[in-house]
This record gives sequence, C-alpha cells and structure tokens, in this order.
Amino acid sequence: MDNDLKRTIILEHFQNPKNKGLINDDSYKFINMNNESCIDEVNLMVKFDGDKIADIRFDGEACAICTSSTSIMIETLIGKTKEEAKNILNNFLKMIDEEEYDADILEQAIVYNDIHRQPNRKKCALLSWRGIERILEELDK
Ligand code: ZN
Repeated sequence: MDNDLKRTIILEHFQNPKNKGLINDDSYKFINMNNESCIDEVNLMVKFDGDKIADIRFDGEACAICTSSTSIMIETLIGKTKEEAKNILNNFLKMIDEEEYDADILEQAIVYNDIHRQPNRKKCALLSWRGIERILEELDK
C-alpha cells in the first residue's frame, strides 16, 4: 500500500470515525484507556454475542493517529470471533514492534506498518487495541 493511500485512509477515519459516541447499554463491557505521552484518552465499549464481537463503540479526546487507529480497529474487529480478534491483535502488536506478522489478516490496519519510524506515535496507534486486548483477557478469567 503506498503512502498516499495510507494517509487518505488515516485521514478518512480521523474525520469520520466509525461508531464514535457511547450509548447507555450495560450489556457492553467498558474500559477507559489513557496515553500519558499524548492527549489521548479513549473510552471503549464492547458487546459480545456468544463468541463474536457484535459491536464496539468509543468516545474521548485523541490525536489523529489514535482516533483513526481506534476507528480502523472497530471496523476490523466487529463480526470477528474472540479467537480471530486475539490473532489480529497479536499480529497488529507484532507489526508495531517490527516483528514478523501476518499482513493478510490485518485488513486496513496495515496503514500503520511504518509507524515505528515515529516511536512517540506507537502508543497512539496501540492505545485502543490494548484496551480490547485487556477486555478479552478479562473474559478469560
Ligand atoms: Zn496520540
């Protein structure tokens, strides 16, 4: 994917983030995530339908990278099973950490495949993904 297309996708998700705005529904799992190295503070809410992620919503104050990454994550993970989501999360983390990863399953999230060149932005890209990872871990307890 070339850099212009990456920028276009990131900008589009920043300007029109998917599922922004929380709803009042306590069937969702809720988590608050903060990135102290940036302005980012994101609230995430996730609804499961059996083994599947039925919905994810968010709100908060966040920079362009964090907002777009959250929106892309939401689009990527809705409809996936917990196992599929864990696999995608795991590969996203590997990509950000410059380890070998499976690009095919990351869908649009590969737009961050060179974010490691801006080390101070890695946490921005990762924040919401860490939140979903934590919710999935909680479910296993
Ligand atoms: Zn940020």
